Amino acid sequence: MAMHLAQPSVAGTVPWPADLAAGYRRDGYWEGRPLVSYLQAAADATPDAVCLVDGELRLSYRELMARVDGAALRLRDLGLRPDDRIVLQLPNCWEFIVLTLACARLGLLPVMALSAYRQQEISTLVEIAQARAVAVARTVKGFDHEAMAHDIAGTATTLSHVLVIDPVRRDSVDLRELVTPAGQATQARAELDAGAPDSSAVALFLLSGGTTGLPKLIPRTHDDFAYMARRAARLCGLGPETTYLAVLPLGHGYPMSGPGVLGTLMSGGRVVLAESPEPSRAFALIEQERITMTSLVPAVVQRWLEHRAADQSADLRTLRLVQVAGSRLPDEVAARIAPALGCTLQQVYGMAEGLLCLTRLDDPAEVRCHTQGRPISPGDELLVVDEDGVPVPAGRPGELLTRGPYTPRGYYRDPQRNAQAFTPDGWYRTGDVVRIRPDGNLVIEGRTKDLINRGGEKISAEEVEGYAYQLATVSLAAAVAMPDPELGERVCLYVVPHSGAEVALDDVRQVMREAGVAPFKLPERIVLVDSLPTTAVGKIDKKNLRARLA
Ligand code: AMP
Repeated sequence: MAMHLAQPSVAGTVPWPADLAAGYRRDGYWEGRPLVSYLQAAADATPDAVCLVDGELRLSYRELMARVDGAALRLRDLGLRPDDRIVLQLPNCWEFIVLTLACARLGLLPVMALSAYRQQEISTLVEIAQARAVAVARTVKGFDHEAMAHDIAGTATTLSHVLVIDPVRRDSVDLRELVTPAGQATQARAELDAGAPDSSAVALFLLSGGTTGLPKLIPRTHDDFAYMARRAARLCGLGPETTYLAVLPLGHGYPMSGPGVLGTLMSGGRVVLAESPEPSRAFALIEQERITMTSLVPAVVQRWLEHRAADQSADLRTLRLVQVAGSRLPDEVAARIAPALGCTLQQVYGMAEGLLCLTRLDDPAEVRCHTQGRPISPGDELLVVDEDGVPVPAGRPGELLTRGPYTPRGYYRDPQRNAQAFTPDGWYRTGDVVRIRPDGNLVIEGRTKDLINRGGEKISAEEVEGYAYQLATVSLAAAVAMPDPELGERVCLYVVPHSGAEVALDDVRQVMREAGVAPFKLPERIVLVDSLPTTAVGKIDKKNLRARLA
């Protein structure tokens, strides 16, 4: 086995048991290569092919890799070292991809934050990760991320660099300058190859769409992340002729590697970036760039279907495959997708914690429209259990537990959460209620976890309730998913006020705004009640509340 100069960055992570890890290597799931080496191989095969399109900018594979290497060396010149953490909060733009790959090239560990996050979330991530740098675009949708990042840097003792696209402040590092090509390409490549991270080291941190007030960092290794993207790319039939349209936020694992951007670039294909999934813009890109594949969430595909019904002018004939994941796609919507968009529907069920399930391209329509697919890897293990953790009879619904070659065994530096989210034998408790059909395909029937799934973005009920309790007028609060035709769910807050007190929706929203919370988490309805129903063990009965809203 090749020796690497850098040590694997495993501090604070929970390794896979050694015998299983050896098996994953033996079975070829883990190839022992750093993530970026797969893209380098694609670049060496077709250096002049265009691989990344963002507006007017078109980068060839050669140009992309030269920029990745240039950025990696400049990050190092800033004093950033393998294993240091950097919080990335960028919209979908080419610099995001170059920077992510540059970090992976150097062994610097990016924390993939969402563009919608605000001061509260970013400062918490900086603290949990003990980040040394943060990267933002100056403004996105009118919000000043540069000012926010510097505010955070003012108090976070570990943070020494604020990287900004189009900065106005002199104490920001100009991110666009940072991602220019390395001067001596061959020398830069050799130097970075020599110090390449160990494949068992962390490549990046995804964030858990979790149930807790504080975010949880999911360490994804080079071995496991590359395997997932490669395997998904293969099952989706990706190759040099693939043109993938990325419309969902790239901070999510799904558009990044399910197979997404990384799977496409490993396969020699081309990635086209869109800042949002807005249908008229997306349809124009599909026509202009001859898009063959994209990934969506149910709320977005519904908007696309409505737009298509009203306006058939765009030429979508190149579109071959549309993935839908993130929340449950209603069966009746699923049936409309292939005929309306002229493509194959692939349902996807997955999570940042690992497990990825796909319907296969040649599955019958019944499977594609009524199930959320089956695991991508023969190494994935699934167990469906009842409330006591006892396996249910085959075909019966229960909570899904999973383990496998790309499902890490724990969150980063969080033994307390790990004890709750993982069983002692390393099964990840998904919190999803599923039924496994005799043909192996999963049907997602509900969830046991306490979160609200707003158009695919997960909101922790506990976090919202925590803000409500900051109001002196609130005696009891319960955040509950309310069904919504557009987004699937929105946040509704049940409140028992202290006697004689008034609580308005905007009181809670104001507390959250002042705390600097991402706007998508703010409750959209409040229901004042005299008391809240409780379960036999005295917990607030959210099932009952959800049923009331339905
Ligand atoms: P995230 O880690 O943000 O991708 O969220 C993962 C969670 O999203 C899963 O545990 C499910 O609760 C939910 N989810 C993802 N895909 C689907 C799907 N196809 N149907 C229903 N729920 C889904």
